[in-house]
Amino acid sequence: MKSIMHLAAPLLVTVTALAAAIGVAVGGGLHAAEPGLVLRAALPGKAEQPALPEVRGRESLPLVVIDPGHGGFDPGATASGYREKTLVLGLARALRDEIDARGIARVALTRDDDRYLLHAERYELARRLNADLFISIHADSAGDAGEVEGASIYTLSDRASSAAAARFAARENAADTLNGVSLGGASAEVNEILVELSRRRTRAEAEEFAGLIQRVGEDKIKFHPKPRHSADLLVLRAPDIPSVLFESGFITNETEARRLASSEGREDFAEVMAQAVGLYFARQQER
Ligand SMILES: [Zn+2]
Repeated sequence: MKSIMHLAAPLLVTVTALAAAIGVAVGGGLHAAEPGLVLRAALPGKAEQPALPEVRGRESLPLVVIDPGHGGFDPGATASGYREKTLVLGLARALRDEIDARGIARVALTRDDDRYLLHAERYELARRLNADLFISIHADSAGDAGEVEGASIYTLSDRASSAAAARFAARENAADTLNGVSLGGASAEVNEILVELSRRRTRAEAEEFAGLIQRVGEDKIKFHPKPRHSADLLVLRAPDIPSVLFESGFITNETEARRLASSEGREDFAEVMAQAVGLYFARQQER
């Protein structure tokens, strides 16, 4: 008995981990034969959308949805003891609180805990809430190049604008495939022409917001020498919500990771982004 117990504990952990992995893989599109066994960790399908998150702020204000990248089984970039999913959740919460405190917009998070959402679910949440602006927050990895640092701002383009952006797109989008099973699935039944018209205006507004982040952040945020990119990132694909992905810095740079995880780093980030959000909506109102 003792020997069985000895074996059973690690075995249970392994089986649970496997079930979680299978549940995730199966839950995206196919249906699991044994819901009780694996669906606890399953991702919501099209039929069962994630519950709408809490929205803070006065009803009359425009809405910004903040999306902390990764989560759950997907840690994102990991280095020096930091995990992207945790670090960006801290940044997202700081930004939410700052926007709420300034009273410049209503604000919601796509996730306020350690859960995984498909890229499409993230912007679909924003669309269901009729968001006016979508900000996805990430932290980058430079592999062994620990000296690489600085924030970057990504907007959507039809084609990856450079090889670097393409590689980035491949890496960020890979999270929707697990063990070769696509977790995404086709979703858009939207009229293509309307989408195209909306997309052009949306892209222009996203570019404007990206420019504001860069301008406002000049003195407070360390930017990468080449901070602006456009790429085909799934999470930015809402055709009707100006969307920006902010790579807050390199988690592979220990100094930068420590700063981003600190309250000072979070405050600097939140102040810059909130100011850019305020300016963006002020300009929108003038039109
Ligand atoms: Zn990421």
